[in-house]
Amino acid sequence: MVEISEDILYDCIIVGGGPAGLTAGLYCARAKLNTLLLEKGTIGGQIAITDLVENYPGFPEGISGKELSLRFKAQAERFGLKVVKAEAVKLEKEGKEIFIHLRNDQLIRAKTVIIASGSNPRRLGVPGESEFLNRGVSYCATCDGALFEGSPIAVIGGGDSATQEALFLTRFGSVVYLIHRRDTLRAQKHLQEKVFSNPKIRFIPDTVVEEIKGNHAVEKLILKNTKTGQMSELAVEGVFIFIGLEPNTGFLKGFVELDENGYVITDERMRTNVEGVFAAGDCRKGSTGQVAVAVGEGCIAAIEAEKYIEHNF
Ligand code: NAP
Repeated sequence: MVEISEDILYDCIIVGGGPAGLTAGLYCARAKLNTLLLEKGTIGGQIAITDLVENYPGFPEGISGKELSLRFKAQAERFGLKVVKAEAVKLEKEGKEIFIHLRNDQLIRAKTVIIASGSNPRRLGVPGESEFLNRGVSYCATCDGALFEGSPIAVIGGGDSATQEALFLTRFGSVVYLIHRRDTLRAQKHLQEKVFSNPKIRFIPDTVVEEIKGNHAVEKLILKNTKTGQMSELAVEGVFIFIGLEPNTGFLKGFVELDENGYVITDERMRTNVEGVFAAGDCRKGSTGQVAVAVGEGCIAAIEAEKYIEHNF
């Protein structure tokens, strides 16, 4: 088991174990930097809960997000990356050293930090959403889809996630309603084609969820048509919400520069405004939510961290 040491000045500490962080870890470890990767939840981040990744090169048949994450991790560990379960809650810099306060009150130090903390599912913010979490409301089809075998399911959203996960959920649901606030989907065209040709998916355009209702578990949605204002009810047992992501950067406020939506601002070399601190992947302003991009950014951040150490230590 990997131990965290408060005595070591690590060459690099990576915050987040998704594709960006694990790739940065692979490059740092392979460059013989003493590197620690902190992950507070599940290795793989958002892709760990993605059923099938079809557009990451090298896997012509697609690969499950979980399997891909474990492969990233195994490859990085082969070169000596140390992966630990820990949560960064605050960062500070004193002289050239960067200090990371952990949730368990440990304080660790590094010459460089790569922030790859990713993003979390955005909440709808309607009555019933929190109340029925894990009692019908979910943000993860891979985790919870099987609970709704033979039941009507609603998917909220119109992007790649909503369409891809709606397709996945047709394995379980008696019907999958795809509810979107506009009449055109934002998702990639090939996903749209699959959705519209799937007999189990019913697209409900121009519609927002006003409330999620039930007794012990979800029983129905109160819907509003955004064009006519007409209200309606829809009986469902599962509600899967995929309305985008929010960067997981709360712990960075006041330390590095963030944009108005909380994304970390970097230059094209993944450098933040704090020397020695880099950012990569979904938490970074301008990243695209693609595994291939996160991997590329993680690689750049690691190469830059290595250069920075060479010049400054
Ligand atoms: P997204 O692309 O930001 O789409 C969010 C969807 O939710 C949009 O359709 C948006 O509607 C809708 N929405 C946002 N706020 C809403 C609200 N308050 N109420 C109702 N609807 C709301 O998010 P995503 O689908 O999670 O994807 C995130 C990133 O990951 C994207 O970059 C995406 O390309 C990537 N991704 C890629 C793949 C793939 O390549 N196969 C798979 C999954 C995700 P509007 O359209 O009206 O704005």
